[in-house]
Parts: sequence; structure tokens; C-alpha cells
Amino acid sequence: MLLCSAIMRPALLNPLFAPVRALKGVGPKTGKLFDRLLEGRAEEARVCDLLFHLPYSVIDRREQPKIRDAEPDKIVMLEVTVAEHRPPPTRHSRAPYRVLVEDETGDVLLVFFLANREWIERSLPVGEKRWVSGKIELWEGAKQMVHPDRIVDAAGLARLPKVEPVYGLTDGLYQRNVQRAMDAAMEKLPALPEWLDSAFARQRNLPGFNTALQTIHRPRSPEDILPDGPARVRLAYDELLASQLALVMMRAHMRETRGRASMGNGRIAQKILEALPFSLTNSQRQAVAEIIGDLESDKRMLRLVQGDVGSGKTLVALLAMAHVVEAGRQAAMMAPTEILARQHYERLKPLCEAAGLRLALLTGRDRAAHRNKVLEELASGEIDIAVGTHALFQESVVFHDLALAVVDEQHRFGVHQRLSLGEKGEAVDILVMTATPIPRTLVLTYFGDMDVSTLREKPAGRSPIETRAMPLERINEVIDGIGRAMAKGARVYWVCPLVEESEELDVAAAQDRFAELSQTFPGRAGLVHGRLKGPEKDAAMSAFQRGETQILVATTVIEVGVDVPEATIMVIEHAERFGLAQLHQLRGRVGRGAAKSSCLLLYKQGLGEVARARIEIMRETEDGFRIAEEDLKLRGEGEVLGTRQSGTPGFRLASLEIHGGLLAAARDDAGLILARDPNLESERGKALRILLYLFERDEAIKLMRAG
Ligand code: ADP
Ligand code: MG
Repeated sequence: MLLCSAIMRPALLNPLFAPVRALKGVGPKTGKLFDRLLEGRAEEARVCDLLFHLPYSVIDRREQPKIRDAEPDKIVMLEVTVAEHRPPPTRHSRAPYRVLVEDETGDVLLVFFLANREWIERSLPVGEKRWVSGKIELWEGAKQMVHPDRIVDAAGLARLPKVEPVYGLTDGLYQRNVQRAMDAAMEKLPALPEWLDSAFARQRNLPGFNTALQTIHRPRSPEDILPDGPARVRLAYDELLASQLALVMMRAHMRETRGRASMGNGRIAQKILEALPFSLTNSQRQAVAEIIGDLESDKRMLRLVQGDVGSGKTLVALLAMAHVVEAGRQAAMMAPTEILARQHYERLKPLCEAAGLRLALLTGRDRAAHRNKVLEELASGEIDIAVGTHALFQESVVFHDLALAVVDEQHRFGVHQRLSLGEKGEAVDILVMTATPIPRTLVLTYFGDMDVSTLREKPAGRSPIETRAMPLERINEVIDGIGRAMAKGARVYWVCPLVEESEELDVAAAQDRFAELSQTFPGRAGLVHGRLKGPEKDAAMSAFQRGETQILVATTVIEVGVDVPEATIMVIEHAERFGLAQLHQLRGRVGRGAAKSSCLLLYKQGLGEVARARIEIMRETEDGFRIAEEDLKLRGEGEVLGTRQSGTPGFRLASLEIHGGLLAAARDDAGLILARDPNLESERGKALRILLYLFERDEAIKLMRAG
């Protein structure tokens, strides 16, 4: 599928899909760093990925305050005279090289660690005037600037942009690398036809697509990059419109193709139920009945199973899959992460064995030999059920007769990915599972027209989770308490938040916490975060699962789905930085067995009103639906879907939290466009095709051509 999109893509867009590595000023080494920074869409970062990497801040050099007035912790530009050099006492000393600079209102120490001495002497000659830019810090009462980001003379100053964008980075990559590559990328931007209705754009004061990118990557004022400013709104609207167009087209296609009836006989399901040490909850029973009703009808199923964490969705999915296997067909289950896919596989395996179901795991990390064997057996029909990551919908994966695709924790995926799994068989039925209770209106816009089954009940035998909130200052008490519980065998999750724009810093925070806890509990602590390699992640998870480690320090990678029933304590550091939905998801990792569980929310003193309310709600209730409602009241739509402030999964430029209001307009727009021009053949229709290719929603175009 990816291959054919590349071939059909209008040549006009080719420069945007060329690799970043091919840009002027990007070498093989920085090229790799860009691949890492922009990972997600394609193995090798492309020019469009770079252009959609928007600055999160700007450095404003238009104002040059006097030293006396320069505010700490803000990047400022100062006009100074170099007063004195204070090199370290010896060449090999680890002390920093300091340079005192001044103006008529005060002085600042420029501080350089492990710096090139000759370079400092050359750049900052005593008695000369220079412009330095960087963050002012107070250190023992004096102003200092560690590693100024710029040191220029009058000529250099004239060449500097007055307002400079600041981009998220990855280790080893610097602002100047991104800026240089971005300049080269902007030069590749072709002239594109306007796809928005001109009256609409005028009325909303939206600039053209290229102008919007120009404004954001070459800002003239801090306002230019604001998430709710016209330039950003334009880009967000384009992305939302592309996704809504694709959704409407796919839905129309779904409605046109009839489904196939998969008639099971309960033979395999019976064996699964017999192998279970418990019986189904009423909610589970009802959901299974609804799903079987869909599977047996010749209408194509598009059903969402909503159920709080721990409500037992996986089992519902297994029974649904068993049903189509009874009918002699195949099922696939897709999870958003490697860890989850593996975990599903491990947990389904004993039940599948008991019921005689042939199960296989397919992820991006499989060895070629294993992968080829699985691919063969999927094609021949020897495998009944495939569990995996997005590797499942790659082109090379062919099923013998796929009847049902289950997608776990849906909101992590883009709509188009889910539907492409649906294209892997003849009229595949689709079952989506989500742990986040979602209001009906959002179901419509985000997932399209779906039927919904809800698991309201939790399996019996769960004891309530005691939730407490404590200021971070009391962390030592918490660690003492955990130590006592661990001595009795308790297993503990310790979650560190995502803090910064840079994932590196988040990971560093988790690493620091891990180092500290390892000192307190030698050999008992494990660490898992998004930057670990797959096998390392697995090793850390399974050591915790087996009880070899008792405390697992994690970034939010454990947020979704991980199941270790023996874990009874959840510590969430900087709980105030998490959304309510996320806190609830995280807490749901404990309280899965019969033992009493607790959740400790460590917060930083001086909570804002919303953060306080969130923590209060967490203490009051464990009911996911109630929490979702309260959440909606507190924060609006984005958070309900478990998105972070920084973005909405499946979207690169739009954030539902900020641009959610545009969604309805985009949906109406898409509906109208397709009602008038179903095959996108008009002038505007042709421009809209380019939009779909640009945002890689072009599967929809293929459907249109085919049928
Ligand atoms: P979810 O995916 O909805 O978060 P899971 O499917 O992971 O929940 O189930 C959580 C745990 O509850 C699993 O260990 C599972 O075996 C168990 N479980 C599922 N259904 C029941 C039930 N009816 N009674 C008791 N335990 C159950
Ligand atoms: Mg689950």
C-alpha cells in the first residue's frame, strides 16, 4: 500500500517526500539524528516531516535590556563590554572559564565549562563591545550566563534574525542544525493550489498553506508561532480536513461493501470458558453477545468496546476471535506498542492452547526466519489468530481469510491505520477496544460511525485502591514506606512524568530516579522508558513480572495495558503534570489482584486550581466514566482521549485540545465537498487530492479509484 501511494503521488509533492538527508547542509551523521527526531511516519525522515516539526518557542532579540533589567530564566540579548577574563587556575582544571562582561548598569559572568580557550579569547577580546545572548541565572546572588547561545560583534548582530524559532531537539542535534535544515526544506516547498474555500479562509483570516509554514518557521514576533494564531490554525485545519475527508470517504466505502456472515458454533469459545478460573461478568457476556450478533449478520461490523482498565476487554476480544475461527476463518489483533503486543500474546497463549487455537506473534522486531514462517502460515491459514503491532498491516502480510480485526487501545492509532487492517481481507469486521470512556459526540468525530458496547462492571474480587496525595517534599517518607512494603514482597510502579519538549530530558529524569532508588534498594529496581531498545524493554518488564525486581521506574510507557497482577503500589511523581485520564489509566495498573492496593500521587507544592481538582477527583472515585465526565468539565475534549498537551495521536499539527473547535467545521466541510464532488474531480477537488497526499491520507483516494 505504501508503495503504490508513492507511485501515484503527484510529482509536485516529490520534493516534500525526499529524505531530509538529501537536504543541503545535512550530512549522514545529522541525517540519522533527524531520523530519530522525526521518527514515527517513515524510517527515514522526509522533508515534509521536518516542515511539520514546528518550533515550540522563539528567542526574541528585538529587545536588548540593560543588565540591571534582564530577567532571570529568560533568553535575552545584552550589549556588553568585555571587562575581564578569569581562566581556570591550570590548563587541566575542571573549573569553568569565566568572562566578566558589563554595561553601565551592572555586570554578568559568562561561564564556559570544558571550553576551547583560544576560541573564548578570540570571541571576547577585553575592552571590546559584543552582543551576547543566553539565559540569565542567579548564582549566589550574582548574574551569570552559562554557555551563551550567541556571541557576536556589530557585523554579526546585523546578520542575526531578530526573532529566532526554537525547536524540539534530540541528543546531538543543535538548534543551528535544525534551522539550517529547515531553511533548505523551505526552499523545496513547491507552489501548491489552494484547497480551502476562499470565502471560508477569508472569513477565518487564514493565510495560505505555504505562507503559514513561512510565518511559523521564520517568525517575526513570538505571536507568529502561537498555537491558536492564524498560521498554526491554518495548518491544523488542513490536517483535520484531510483526516475528515478520508474518514467520510472510508465510511462511504464501508457502507457500500457488504460484510460476510461468520457463523460460529460455540465449540472453541466453550473450551476457552472452561479453561478460565472465573466466569464472565454480565457486561462481558453482553458485549460478546452483541459482537457475535454483528459477526453473524452480513452487515459489516464496526464496533467499539469501551471498558475501564481491568474490565476484561481482552477476553471479550478473544471470544470474538474464537467465533470467526469456529467459522473457519482468521482473526488479527493489533496493539499500539511492542510491549503490549507481546503481553497480549503471552496471556492469550495458554487459553488458545487449551482451546486448540493456533496463535502467532508478529512485530517489527522478529527475525527474518521467524517472520517468514509466520507470513507463510498466515497465508496458508495454518495460523488462526495473529497478534502484533502495526507490523500486521504491512504490505507483505497476507491472510488466508481474515474475518475480524481487533484494534486495542485505538486512540493511539490514526484512523487510516485501523482501516488499512480492514483492507487485508474480504469485508473484514472491525472491533476497536478502548480503555477511555469517550462521550458519544467524540466517538463520532474521532472514530466515525460506530456501534458501541460498554463494559461497566469490573470483575469480582477486586479490592478498592487507596489513593493518597502528598507533596514531593515528603518523598523520603514515601521511600521509607515503600521499603517496608517491599520487605513484605510488594511490587511497586514508580512513574516519572513527561516534562519537557525533549524526550531526552524526561528519560534523564527517570534515569536519575532509578539511580537513586537503586542505591536505596540495590538490585531490586528496574527501569523502562521509550528510549530503550525493544529487547531491553522486554527484559525490564519481564524481570518485574517475575518479581526479580520489585520496583519498576518508568516513564509513561507503562500507561496503557500492562498487566502485572502482583503489583500493588503505584507512585506517580509530579502527579500535577498528568491529565486526569492519564492518572486514572496509570492507577489502573494496580488493584488487579485480590490484594489491597494503593496509589500515591506526589505533587509539587503550589498546585493550580485545575491540578488540585484533578487530584481531588482521583481520591474520590475509581469510576472511569465519572472521571471522564469530570475531566470533560475541567479540560475539554483533548484530555478525555488521553492526549498530552503537546499533541493528539494521529495528528501532527492539530491538537484537539487547542483546535478541537475546528473539528466540526472540518467535518461539515468534508461532508459538503464529497456530496458535491464525490470523486474529487473539480478544480478544488483536485487540490484536495493533493492535500490528502500531503497528509498521507491517500488510502481514501485508492478506494475511490477502485470502486
Ligand atoms: P482491560 O484490557 O480491560 O484493561 P484485561 O482484559 O487486561 O482488562 O483484564 C484484566 C485482568 O482481569 C486480567 O488479568 C484478566 O484475566 C482478568 N479478568 C478478565 N475477566 C475477568 C472476570 N470475568 N473475572 C475475573 N477476572 C477477569
Ligand atoms: Mg487491555
